[in-house]
This record gives sequence, C-alpha cells and structure tokens, in this order.
Amino acid sequence: MHPRNRHPGRYDFRALVAASPELARFVGKNAHGDISIDFANPEAVKALNGALLKSFYGISGWDIPQGYLCPPIPGRSDYIHSIADLLADNNDGRIPRGDRVRVLDVGVGASLIYPIIGRSEYEWSFVGTDVDDKALASARRILEANPKLASGIELRLQSVPENILKGVVQPDERFDLVVCNPPFHSSLEEAEQGSRRKWRNLGRAPSASTRKPKLNFGGQSGELWCPGGEVAFIGRMIDESAVFAKNVFCYSSLVSKDSSLDDLYERLNQAEVADTATIEILHGQKKSRIVAWTFLNQNEQDQWRKRWT
Ligand code: SAH
Repeated sequence: MHPRNRHPGRYDFRALVAASPELARFVGKNAHGDISIDFANPEAVKALNGALLKSFYGISGWDIPQGYLCPPIPGRSDYIHSIADLLADNNDGRIPRGDRVRVLDVGVGASLIYPIIGRSEYEWSFVGTDVDDKALASARRILEANPKLASGIELRLQSVPENILKGVVQPDERFDLVVCNPPFHSSLEEAEQGSRRKWRNLGRAPSASTRKPKLNFGGQSGELWCPGGEVAFIGRMIDESAVFAKNVFCYSSLVSKDSSLDDLYERLNQAEVADTATIEILHGQKKSRIVAWTFLNQNEQDQWRKRWT
C-alpha cells in the first residue's frame, strides 16, 4: 500500500462506528473472533464506505444506488497517491496541488470516488464523465450534500458510449491529468466469473437462488464490462488521446490484467507517445497497475510545469 494511504492495516471499527453510527448494525465478531463486517453483504460494505469517507474525508451522506459498484477506498486512494507521485517525479519532487491542477476522471461512476479522494488529498479540481445517467445523478447528489466538494468538481455526460474523450473534452481545454478505472471484463459472463471468484475467496459459494453474483457485489453491467474488455477500452482511449495529444500533461488508466500490457504498449507505440510509465499497485494478494503516457516532449513539459508554481 502507498505510504500516504490513510487506510493501512485493519479498519478500526470502533472508531468508524463512533463517527458513523449507521455502521453499527453491520458490525460484529466474524469467524476468527475479530470485530468486522460481513464483506459479502453489499449493504454492509456500503455502510463501511460511508463511514470511511466521513471519518477520513469529512464527506456527508455518501450513497450509491442499489447494484452500483461500491469502490474499495484503500485501492482507489493508492491510484491517486501513486499518480500524484508520478506528477511529483516530473516536478522536482513536488506534488502539484490546488484548484489549478485539473483532472479528468473518465467513468467517474455513481460513487464519485476519485474526485472525492483527489480533492480531499490534493485540492485538485475534477471533471468527471460517465455514460450512465443514473451514475451521474448519484454523483450529483453527493456533490449537493457536500458543497465544499462541489465547487471544484464538474460532471459531464458522455452521450456516445464508444467515445472516451471526444465530445467531453473541448478542443482548447487542458487537463494536467487523466485518470480512469475502465470496465475490465470483455463480457457479462467473464464479469460474473470474476464475481464468483470473489465469493470463493470469501469462503462462500453463491447459492442457486443468487444467480446474479454481480448484484451481490455491486456493479451495473456497464461498469464491469465492455466489448473487448479493458484492452479495447483503454486502446480506444489511447487512440483518442493522440487527437488531444497536447491538451493533457499525463494520461493514465488502471489495468487489471498483466496480459493486457503487451497489447496496450503496442497501441501506445502506434500512437507515437513521447513517454510511458507503468506503476504497480499491490493490495494483499491483488496486484494491479497504472499505465501512464504523455505526448509532450521535455520542452513542452517544462513549459507546462510553470502553470503549477
Ligand atoms: N470510477 C469509478 C467507476 C468505475 S466503473 C470507480 O473507480 O469505482 C467504470 C465506469 O465507466 C462506469 O461508471 C461506466 O458507466 C463508465 N463508462 C463506460 N464507458 C464509458 C465511456 N465511454 N465514457 C465515460 N465513462 C464510461
């Protein structure tokens, strides 16, 4: 886990319940005798997220509609901190902070998770896009409940699901950073298999009556899969990024599978990017990675950095 991650080790459920009494009804002793929640219960996981966001980031009334992806906060924080480090590496070791640092979150989701963390940790301003109206409505409700966040976060509907940047980025608009947690799977079936694996890891099998494991773990189908999976989604993002090559200092995306990297690097080569970076993120057993790229040469990067001082 990243050293600046606020969630190392076990959760302090007593402190979380004190901050968020709604969590209390989900907390009890688990099979190992530890105070915990039932991580297979989406309502419990949602309540835990609400409590974490309240305790650590002062967010009130965080909620997502039933069936939507409930993001694990520690993992999402790691992306934000790791990518902040990458910007610092290109800025004499200093993380650029404040409103003037503009971040585009492709697929912001119902949870608004990256803008919440990025704004809370580094005061960045965000534009979050999504193709899902209901997800955006949920994100908007979180903003309405938290005026402090709202001033620096804008939401935009991507009305063409095949497009990533086109239609939501203005031709002369600049972003210091693009972040993205893409739909990973290539089919609903693959997404459900992934969900079944999670059930097994929790030591349970979904019962015959729960034929839709995705619902138990949260995640609308559009959040979890798209034709061609993450290679297709990020591949399209790479191709489109070439069109907006000089609008962005640093493009990035999470990549869930190691096996996707070769294809993605080939796409990056074809797009003739100026530089790339791969950052590994480790959470317990789970390894994922961020791939980042830029079209700016050194001189252009130097010019751009002046905007951060
Ligand atoms: N950022 C959130 C949600 C990630 S799920 C999190 O990390 O938890 C992926 C999201 O991408 C979903 O909300 C889905 O609706 C959205 N999405 C799918 N295609 C998209 C596109 N072309 N442009 C923008 N968002 C898209």
